[in-house]
Formats: sequence, C-alpha cells, structure tokens
Amino acid sequence: MTDLTALTLSEARDGLRKKAFTATELTEAHVGAIEQANGALNAYVLTTPEHALAQAGASDGRLAKGDARPLEGLPLGNKDLFCTNGIRTTACSKILDDFKPAYESTVGGNLWNAGAVMLGKLNNDEFAMGSSNETSAFGPVVSPWRRNGSDTKLVPGGSSGGSSAAVAANLCLAATATDTGGSIRQPAALTGTVGIKPTYGRCSRWGIVAFASSLDQAGPIAKTVRDAAIMLTSMASYDAKDSTSVNVPVPDYETGLTSGVKGLRIGVPKEYRVEGMSSEIDALWQKGIAILKDAGATIHDISLPHTKYALPAYYIVAPAEASSNLARYDGVRYGLRVPGRDVIETYENTRAAGFGHEVRKRILVGTYVLSAGYYDAYYLKAQKVRTLIKRDFDEAWDKVDVVLTPTTPSPAFGFGEKSGDPIAMYLEDIFTVTVNMAGLPGISVPAGLSSQGTPLGLQLIGKPFDEATLFRTAQAIETASGRFTVPQTWWRDAAAKKGKS
Ligand code: GLN
Repeated sequence: MTDLTALTLSEARDGLRKKAFTATELTEAHVGAIEQANGALNAYVLTTPEHALAQAGASDGRLAKGDARPLEGLPLGNKDLFCTNGIRTTACSKILDDFKPAYESTVGGNLWNAGAVMLGKLNNDEFAMGSSNETSAFGPVVSPWRRNGSDTKLVPGGSSGGSSAAVAANLCLAATATDTGGSIRQPAALTGTVGIKPTYGRCSRWGIVAFASSLDQAGPIAKTVRDAAIMLTSMASYDAKDSTSVNVPVPDYETGLTSGVKGLRIGVPKEYRVEGMSSEIDALWQKGIAILKDAGATIHDISLPHTKYALPAYYIVAPAEASSNLARYDGVRYGLRVPGRDVIETYENTRAAGFGHEVRKRILVGTYVLSAGYYDAYYLKAQKVRTLIKRDFDEAWDKVDVVLTPTTPSPAFGFGEKSGDPIAMYLEDIFTVTVNMAGLPGISVPAGLSSQGTPLGLQLIGKPFDEATLFRTAQAIETASGRFTVPQTWWRDAAAKKGKS
C-alpha cells in the first residue's frame, strides 16, 4: 500500500469514504511515523496513540454506516497551547508542569465533533513567544528541511514550530496553531506549508492559553490550500464563551476555492520593500505578482504608511497583555509550585523557576510599559499607532481586494543564529504583525525555494471575514507554483540506523 502519511487531508478524506483504507490504518501509519521521527524532530511533546486509535475505531464505525462527519477519521496534531480535556497541556512552559485541564478548547472540540482524530500535542515556543521554537521548555523542534548539501539543523519557525514541522514531515494530516504576531504564517512559510490566521473573532479563543488576548487567533497549518480551507471550516464558530467571538456565519471555505482570481484587485504595498530584504525574497514577490496577473487579477501599487511603526508597537502591546495574562501563574492554581516561607515567596519562587528567559523578559517589558508614568508614553501611544495601522488598511480596501507581500524577510535559519540577537529574531515578524494589529485575516502560501533549497512563502492579507477570497487567491498561487515537499526523509534513515546499532 502507498504511504498513507504522504496523503493530503482532502485525499485522505476521499480515500476513507471510498473505503480504500480505514481510519485505523491511517492513524496507525501516522503513529508509526511519529515514533520514527520524534527523536530527531521533537515536534510532539506528548503523543496520545491510545486516544487516537479509540477515536479512529469510532470513526470506522461511522464510515461503515455512511454516517461520516466532515473530518471523520482524519488524524491531526494539536498545538500544546490548546487545552485538552484530561490530557496534559503546558504551553511548553515549566510553570504549567503536569496541568490537565478539565475542559477542551472550543476549536479543539469543534474538530473532534467533526470526527477528527488527535495524535498528540505539538511543541511550540513557551507561551507562544518566539519565532524559532527555541524557547520551548521541551527543547527546540528541528525542521525536516535542510539546506542543499548541508546537515545544519534549521528552525521550523515559531511559535507554532511543532505544527509546521509535523505537517511538513507527514506526522499529521494538518495541525492546529495560533498566531499573535505571525506564529501561524511564519512557520508555514519556513516549512513549505500553508497557514492561515483568520480574522480576529473568527475562531474562539476559549480554552487556548492566552498570550496577548487582543491579538491571539487560532488557525490551521496544512499541506495545501484546500486542506487549510477544510480545517478552518470546522475550526471556526461563534462562541458565547469568548466575548470577542463574532457571530458571522462560517462559509464552507472549500466551495469556490478554484473559482480563480479574474478581475480581483491585488495591492502591493511599497512600505513592505524593507531595507536589507534579500534579493530572493524580492524575486519571490515579483513571481507572485506575475502569477496573479497571468491568472487575470489586476495589480495596484498601494501605500500603508504606518507599517514601520507596527513592530515596535507590537512589542509594547503584546508584552503588556502577556504580563497581565501570565499573572495567574502563581503556584496556587495551576501546575508548578515551589513553596516559600509565605505566599509572596511562594509566588516568587514558582515564577522564577517556572518561566523561561524570553517569557520573563516579556513580563518585565509589559509591566514596565503599563506602569504609572510610562503608560501614556508607551502603551497608550502604541494603541494609537494600532488605530493608524488599521486605518491604513481601511483606506486600502477602497482600492484593492487583497494585499500581497512576502511572509518573511528571509528563509529558515539555523539554531542559535538569531536567538542571541532579539532584534534579528523580532524582525522575523516584520511582514506579519501588522495583520494582527489590524485584526485582519492573513494566509501564507509556499511559492518558491531559496538559493539554498529551503521554502519561501507569500502572504495574502484580506478584508475582515473575507477568508474565502484569500483561499481562492492562495489556490491560484499554489496551482501555478506547485507544492513544496521535503525532498529527503533523513529523519527516517536516522531512526533506522539507531534501531540497527
Ligand atoms: N514571534 C512573535 C513573538 O514572539 C509572534 C509570536 C506569535 O504569533 N505567537 O511575539
């Protein structure tokens, strides 16, 4: 039989319905692939094979009766930021220790109610703070991609690095992810996968460990645009338990996916041509423009003048909200407790032992910008910048339907190459944070390879709740450039060798 893990989500769905294989076989194939790969890639921080096989068994029952739900029997990975009922959830922080939630995130619940199978919890940067998955308490994730002729370990992007690596290495058919400043789109771009951050309010944040509540959104990382569309259709819902959830009907995003981009107006913002951007990123951008033009879209130069303030404003707003959200981890309610002589010392000991370096840094910055005397100078000013960024886009929507930019300023980098330089790391999000600041949907779609043979992504930004247009535009790019799959499954050879010795 062919390798079932190489199928896309939509191929697997169709195969199950035609009874070419069973959900149990499909799940077993993924469980086996994870066993072989996880030592080398570290994409999963917890695997739940018994749980997965039980779900798959139930799905086989439904499939046999012709009673299949939209994602019946399809094995997925779940980012460890999503609370899972009775299953350890850590946000990849020591401070949550062995925390087992008594509830399921709404997005997770939507997926399992649609018939999906959960293979386990995926690695991420601690509390989703990072761009390389190097801040995880479980250690970094290794990208399945390598540069041509090199065995240097590359990062899979972050913070959803476990999700992107697992999808790229065929360790799940698709995965959940979250994006506060780029954490779905940047890892997707660095691994040749598709990732969409929907409009703020499209997916419920209930039961997702909070980083910066006004920016956080859930979305999928998948192998193809179609797969991402299928995933988002099930993930999105109105949820009264999230006060920022928006009650707009969820369309079937798979419908209309291939209807093309004829007459669509594509905006190219001049401010995204940033200083020091590599020529191959610029070439990729030009390629995207050419593809969409050939497909019948019209191209328009636009200006988003406040773009240059987005990153500094993000690094005020996000830490401010994080410092408030993370105040709850005090050694009393969740996970880790390091006792002290009194309650204050218990808080201090627990937080000192539980939080990693990057998280501590963000809490300090956030507390500082919210403190009396600095609030107006930093936090309030950043909020005003945010309004201006949103206004830039509001004005652009009079002229264009979709904005096209690169997703990242550079291809995947090696471990340690940026972790010593916070500015270099924060620049990873230069093209993605504006989208979170304005609450808009953004998708990253693979469009080419770097000179070193690693994937590069293009970003499409859309109007609020116009994810459907992003999907069909991304589909036009995918149709023209093809998919970018990992050329060598070196991690399997490594596992085989280890097994022999
Ligand atoms: N890399 C950005 C940060 O570290 C964005 C992270 C995210 O989107 N969760 O804050």
